[in-house]
Order: sequence, then C-alpha cells, then structure tokens
Amino acid sequence: MTIPSLPNFAEAMSSRNDQEGVLRVAIMGLGSYGTRVAQAMESSKRAKVVGVISGTPSKVENWKKKYGIPDKNCYNYENFDAIKDNPDIDAVYVITPNALHKEQSIRVAKAGKHVICEKPMAINAAEAKEMVTACEEAGVKLLIGYRLHFEANTLKVVNMRKAGDFGDIKFFQGLSGFMIGDPTQWRLDPALSGGGAMMDIGIYSINGARYMVGEEPIWVTAQEVKTDPVKFKEGIDETITFQLGFPSGVVASCLSTYSQNNLDKFFLNGTKGFAEMQPSTGYGPIKGRTHQGALDEPHIMHQTVQMDQMAGIILDGAEPPIPVDGREGLKDMVIIDAIFEAVKTGGKVAISV
Ligand code: NDP
Repeated sequence: MTIPSLPNFAEAMSSRNDQEGVLRVAIMGLGSYGTRVAQAMESSKRAKVVGVISGTPSKVENWKKKYGIPDKNCYNYENFDAIKDNPDIDAVYVITPNALHKEQSIRVAKAGKHVICEKPMAINAAEAKEMVTACEEAGVKLLIGYRLHFEANTLKVVNMRKAGDFGDIKFFQGLSGFMIGDPTQWRLDPALSGGGAMMDIGIYSINGARYMVGEEPIWVTAQEVKTDPVKFKEGIDETITFQLGFPSGVVASCLSTYSQNNLDKFFLNGTKGFAEMQPSTGYGPIKGRTHQGALDEPHIMHQTVQMDQMAGIILDGAEPPIPVDGREGLKDMVIIDAIFEAVKTGGKVAISV
C-alpha cells in the first residue's frame, strides 16, 4: 500500500466518509419530487444529500444553503461527468423527466457512481436494458425508486400472501389515476415523458400486480380511450384499461388514467381471504384492511425508509424485501411495451420478463 504524501493524506482524510455507513447522495433534478426526496432524507439515518446536479442556478443556491452543500459538489447537466473525480459522492439519484433517465443514468454509471433512478426507469424496455448493462459493466448498483417496496402495510400484505393467508390467489385489481392539470407540463410532452398516464401512474398498478400476486405476467390485453386528443396528443395515453394473465391462472384487471381522480386502489382476492388498500400507492399513510382486520402499520415518510434501505443495499449488500434493482424496473418496462402493443393490435400479447 502506498502511503500518500502529507498534503494528499490530509485531502484523503477530509474526503473520507467519516459518517461511517452513510450513503452520500447527489440529487439530479431539483423539481417537485427531488425536493420531497431531499426533505425525507433529512430524517434518514443512513443517507444524506451532499450534492446537486441541476440546470437552474437559483435552485442550486437555495439547496446549497439549505443542505450545506459545498460548491465542489454542485454540477449541471453539461459538466456532471466530472463527478467521477469527486470522492465525496457515492450515488446520484436521477429525478428528471422520464426520457432523460437513460442517458443521465448511463453517464452517472460511467462516472463510477451508483445510480438510483426514478420510475419509469426509461421509456421502453430497450432503453432499460441498456441502463442495466451499462451499470453492470461499470460495476455500480442501479436501483429504481420503488418506495412502496419498503412500505410497512404493503409488506404486511405481501408477507401474508407468502404465508398462504389468502389461500390461492385468484384476482387482483389495480386502479391508478388522477386528473392531470397544466397542458404545457413535460408529462404531456411525449419527447420528455415517453408516454402518458401509463408511464407516470399506470406503472403503479403494473408493479403492484406483480408484488401483490407474487408471479410474473405471461400475457396482456389492453384497451385505450381518449376523450381529449388535443391535451392527450399522439404518444400520450389518457386512459388505458388492461388485463394481465399470470401462470397460475390469476388475472389482474387494471386502470391507468390521467382524467379521473380518487383512483389509488388495490384489491387482492384469494380462496381464503382478501386485501384491499386505498390509498395503495400515494405518499400515504397507506390504508386498508384484510379479512383478518385493519392494515395499521405506523406511517413513516416512504422516501425516508426507502433511502435508509437503499443505503443498506448499496453499502452493505443488503437484500430488499421486494427487488428494486434495474432488472426489476426492466420487467415493468417490458410489460408497458406489451400493453402499448396490445392497444395497437387489439390482441392478446405474450409477455416474457
Ligand atoms: P418536476 O417537473 O417537478 O421536476 C423535474 C426536474 O427535472 C425539473 O425541476 C428540472 O430540475 C429537471 N429537468 C431537467 N431537464 C428538464 C427538462 N427538459 N424539462 C423539465 N425538467 C427538467 O417533475 P417530478 O419531480 O414530478 O418528476 C421527476 C421524476 O420523478 C419523473 O420521472 C417522475 O415519474 C418521478 N416521480 C416519482 C414519484 C414517486 O413517488 N416515486 C413521484 C413523482 C415523480 P432542475 O431545474 O434542477 O434542472
């Protein structure tokens, strides 16, 4: 081992992660969800905001003050590849519009930093695969922001299902939607969103169907309804209903929409019991009941738990209760591709995840 010369040694010590076991995170994209994640991390024991990547200098100034971020940990979208030379950042959390995730995540991986990326991880399966490969080749972790995979009431239902408390699972229903406002926002611009309600909110029913049922779907049928083709232009789905078939014969029936509120509901039915959750995927508290009684695990801000757990996955190699890695995100993208295909053809589309 080479002992560094004195000035370098001092530098090495100052850049050492002296809060042992704390994941040092730079947030990319200081928008509404990035702000929520950073707030949640204020109560995290294991993850800390130490840097930012942003295209808006005024936000950077505010975040520097709020989180005590030094200038050297602040980047923009042009220069963030230089993060590779910054030993004080372990991971970058990509919280930008969907269509930017692939390129940004791959650049982060090539800079040798772990990647946490928001859902949807990309805008199709081909892109998601590229991200998985790039992170594997770079030897960094790729985690997707599936906060419900750590949520206590969700895990209670999943554990009950694993224990056989519901008997043989027969049916799942997922309802995911809200009325979207401002027509000029990036969520309604296909170049930035890669799709409409399905990418943004329908993905919760897809992902939920998989962790609630505990199997991977093998076919999908889907139907699209568009009532406002001006607001929901070509490439932006307004409402899609879809059905997923699972190997055991379970069927999931789901709704994804940008034009109805009060839709955040899961229902799981088996031969011995049921679980219903409403809200099932919002910021919580997640509420619901099973045939055994209320789901009343204490509520902790989802993103706080998520970041504590993700620090464990990245720093200690811990296993999450439900996978949150890039391959898990890729499965949802394969299913979304198949749903869009089913809408186009009107037929039953086979899925292999
Ligand atoms: P916002 O529009 O509020 O924020 C996105 C941020 O991305 C902007 O503020 C901006 O930050 C940055 N950005 C970079 N390039 C662009 C661009 N061309 N156009 C617009 N913004 C740009 O979106 P959200 O925070 O709501 O969503 C971001 C991501 O997080 C999405 O992928 C979304 O699906 C996901 N999300 C996940 C949630 C969850 O519960 N897991 C909940 C909500 C969103 P800056 O000015 O710093 O550059």
